[in-house]
Amino acid sequence: MHATPRAVGAARIGPNSIIQTVGAIEEERGYKATRSFLREIGQDAFAEQLPTTMIDEVAFISLIGAIRTELGVEAAGRILARSGERTADYLLAHRIPAPAHVVLPRLPRRLGLNLLLKAISGHAWTFAGTGRFSYTVDAKGAILSLADSPECRGMTATQPICRYYESCFQTLLRPLIDQRLVVREVACAAQGNEACVFEVR
Ligand SMILES: [Zn+2]
Repeated sequence: MHATPRAVGAARIGPNSIIQTVGAIEEERGYKATRSFLREIGQDAFAEQLPTTMIDEVAFISLIGAIRTELGVEAAGRILARSGERTADYLLAHRIPAPAHVVLPRLPRRLGLNLLLKAISGHAWTFAGTGRFSYTVDAKGAILSLADSPECRGMTATQPICRYYESCFQTLLRPLIDQRLVVREVACAAQGNEACVFEVR
């Protein structure tokens, strides 16, 4: 099991968590209605301006909580899943070096996954805040683990609810490893598990 060290200092997370979540709401409602919606759910600051630098992860947790309270876990999950896709698209376009797009999919799957997941692990704090990301590569694909996931922190649920991370991982891994792969959260901390576990198959 490869694990990343805990993020040091304040609990920071990348601004994409907010930018892409708001972007996902805009896709459904348009720009203006999204501003009204954000004010209605007490997220006035993001109605005015979106962050451009690292933010306190509490802001992301609070935005998720406000959307869930307003729309319910199911509908909020659809927005969060879309936000995860958008975040992965951003990473693929701006953070994954061009050679990786060419080389990784051509490598044996196990090697490709090891290289990619090691790189993701090194930057995990940028999308997971104080959540702790780790992974194992196995014969069938990989198992990703996120302890203290900001997406379900403090939540109780009967089903896994970390749709943002689930779809972010899938959208990021598909073009770099195998377009047919599926990422599914099979255990969530919201169900009382120690960490959120995502199967890559
Ligand atoms: Zn979870």
